[in-house]
Amino acid sequence: MRKKIVAGNWKMNLTVNEGLVLIEELKKEVSSGIMADELIVFPPYIHLTAMVENAQNEILVGAQNCHQEENGAFTGEVSAHMLAASNIGHVLIGHSERRAYFNETNDLLAKKVEVALNASLTVVYCCGETLPEREENRHFEIIKSQLTEGLFHLTAEQMANVVIAYEPVWAIGTGKTASADQAQEVHAFIRKLVYDAYSTSIAQGVSILYGGSCNPTNANELFSKPDVDGGLIGGASLKAIDFIQIANAY
Ligand code: PEP
Repeated sequence: MRKKIVAGNWKMNLTVNEGLVLIEELKKEVSSGIMADELIVFPPYIHLTAMVENAQNEILVGAQNCHQEENGAFTGEVSAHMLAASNIGHVLIGHSERRAYFNETNDLLAKKVEVALNASLTVVYCCGETLPEREENRHFEIIKSQLTEGLFHLTAEQMANVVIAYEPVWAIGTGKTASADQAQEVHAFIRKLVYDAYSTSIAQGVSILYGGSCNPTNANELFSKPDVDGGLIGGASLKAIDFIQIANAY
């Protein structure tokens, strides 16, 4: 059975103290039981060690990015190995904001994925089309190239440590959610691509999360779809009550 995962991308939000308060609130809820198998938060780099110490493995902690090289003269950057050495278990790769504002291409992301897996991190690899791409009915083609060029160079063994997040760019932070049927259609397409590139067991084992204005009101319908294994949540992950409601929306 693949894992049900709810993950929160804090982006560039919350001070360290605000983050610690949120972690405490989440821990209280997790200790009384949630429906998701895993709850992961992705705080800004500077908060990672404080959050991982306080989360005590009840909540998993990941980074929002890592550099594509193992080490070296890359001022301001953080390597996958440094994250792993600080007990960070997950990393987001290919978020649409990184693709759009930091010019991250599929080729670059392929390197990041490789270096992260070599450091024993679990990768949450994001894909998704923009509004013009959806309107031109090119979303399947775009997602296929994001996965083929950024992810499918991995071995089957490496793929076991990858989670895929489908995040239509037009739904991120806009309050516009993909309908549950639209999400299911793309998730089933992604699972078929994984099957074609690997095998039935890899395709059935990979968790595929939906992201894009997911909230306590729409999570239930989205998560009821057979190929939607959870969510990558932005805005609604900053409030414990909303995030926990989403983690219970199965
Ligand atoms: C995201 O940035 O990954 C995201 C899904 O954001 P939001 O939930 O705010 O749309």
